[in-house]
Amino acid sequence: SSSRDPQVGADPREVLAEVFGYDAFRGDQEAIVRHVIGGGDAVVLMPTGGGKSICYQIPALVREGTGIVLSPLVALMHDQVAALRLAGVRAAALNSAMSLEERRDVEQAYREGRLDVLYLAPERLSAPGTVELLAQGRIALFAIDEAHCVSQWGHDFRPDYLRLGALAERWPDVPRIALTATATPETHREITERLHLQRARHFVSSFDRPNIRYRIEPKQSARAQLTAFIRGEHAEEAGIVYALSRKRVEQTAKALRDAGVDAVAYHAGLPAAERLDAQTRFLREDGVVVVATIAFGMGIDKPDVRFVAHIDLPKSIEGYYQETGRAGRDGLPAEAWLAYGLQDVVQQRQMIESGDGDQATRQNQTRHLNAMLALCEGATCRRVFLLKYFGEERAEACGNCDVCLDPPKLWDATIPAQMLLSTVIRTERERRRTYAAGQHIDVLRGVPSERATQMRLDELSTWGIGTEWSVAQWRGVVRHLLAAGILEARGEWGVLAPTEAAKPVLRGEEAVQMREEVVVRAAGTRGGRA
Ligand code: ADP
Ligand code: ZN
Repeated sequence: SSSRDPQVGADPREVLAEVFGYDAFRGDQEAIVRHVIGGGDAVVLMPTGGGKSICYQIPALVREGTGIVLSPLVALMHDQVAALRLAGVRAAALNSAMSLEERRDVEQAYREGRLDVLYLAPERLSAPGTVELLAQGRIALFAIDEAHCVSQWGHDFRPDYLRLGALAERWPDVPRIALTATATPETHREITERLHLQRARHFVSSFDRPNIRYRIEPKQSARAQLTAFIRGEHAEEAGIVYALSRKRVEQTAKALRDAGVDAVAYHAGLPAAERLDAQTRFLREDGVVVVATIAFGMGIDKPDVRFVAHIDLPKSIEGYYQETGRAGRDGLPAEAWLAYGLQDVVQQRQMIESGDGDQATRQNQTRHLNAMLALCEGATCRRVFLLKYFGEERAEACGNCDVCLDPPKLWDATIPAQMLLSTVIRTERERRRTYAAGQHIDVLRGVPSERATQMRLDELSTWGIGTEWSVAQWRGVVRHLLAAGILEARGEWGVLAPTEAAKPVLRGEEAVQMREEVVVRAAGTRGGRA
């Protein structure tokens, strides 16, 4: 039985040194480990890279029995099991990807007390026989990883997590530890309630990553800006570039290679061998840049990632913060760089509208997008904004973000905003439908075209009244109004339309304050397209 296991009852510091090879605990780790070893429940909020795994792995070793770890990502499970086995920990996973025989072996090992850690996908708990199986062994603890998945209002809800609350009733004496790297105060509350962790101790680490410099800039030509950013500021350094689609990933990787950057593509649509090769090169070689969809990065632990770049707008601050958190885990200076433009706002609003979620899901996605846009459009310290989003109040500006280092000038855009809204309303009302933002801008700038003549756009009273502003400035105004919910892009074609919030602006009761549109000059940029 497990009494032969050398770690049972051992001092956690010795286990840390002997099994994991570390000299000291970090942050809250030791307090968490001791609390769980003592049988207490815990809710752990710790940023990516903070060292959450050890918080349940050491108690799993020190307590009698097997630590059951519920983790949503099967791929990640295998990596963790492999890493633990290398360290001499008796770890295994149970999931539906395994053969019947493999599963039987693992089940047998569990029953006989030959496992320290057992990883389970949450949906296994509702599979027939799993609860009975667990009852036939001895459980040291339950660890619920990525606990924010229990939150319906979070960005990553998984219905299977709702069943995990029942563990408290079935095994009231087994300690439970819920862990996440992304919890707003709301999600934190939901984790506590839904997992029945009312009596748990809460360990909330600061989410601040002081060595990461946040930068967000308007997008003109994403690829040219990205190339300039990497070659100019991070030549020969390791980094991750996130893009929204597989096609963008491949095109961007190629463009970077053409510009002499050692870039590899990574997305779920590539053959497994190619993905593994990209990942291995990134981990083992110096200065490799991975261009990837968000499928990349979970469980990848590379300390010296010097930058994380987003060339498309992330869908939520939670996602953005988790992705940027992969930079600078070694504590040395690193950068989080994001380029976003009008097209991002239109595209994401449309994706939400045309998605297959119900009304509540769409509202939730809109809320997340709006928060992300408020960050981008805002003129306050990025770190103050981000930490506040995660419930941390911080009074002073950080001195290490674009806003602090180069404070944006504010521009009173009320008049151009009124001009734009009037144009949108007139083209709508008179059924001279202009669809894309570019066409409204052409009206305002009085750009003659066949279409303008045909549709008699040149007869509109707003024709040519906005020539004093550049196309880039106009695109900035459209983007800002969309971001602020004053304009919306409706339907499949993204027809611009004013919302209720447009009324006070049109009546002159509300001013539109926005960041001055900086025209970022990147090597090789020609057009002004966002
Ligand atoms: P998280 O799950 O919070 O993102 P991990 O558990 O994957 O973080 O840990 C991040 C990295 O930090 C890993 O490489 C891990 O081995 C390392 N680590 C964790 N705790 C310590 C410690 N006390 N001392 C040194 N390294 C640690
Ligand atoms: Zn700042």
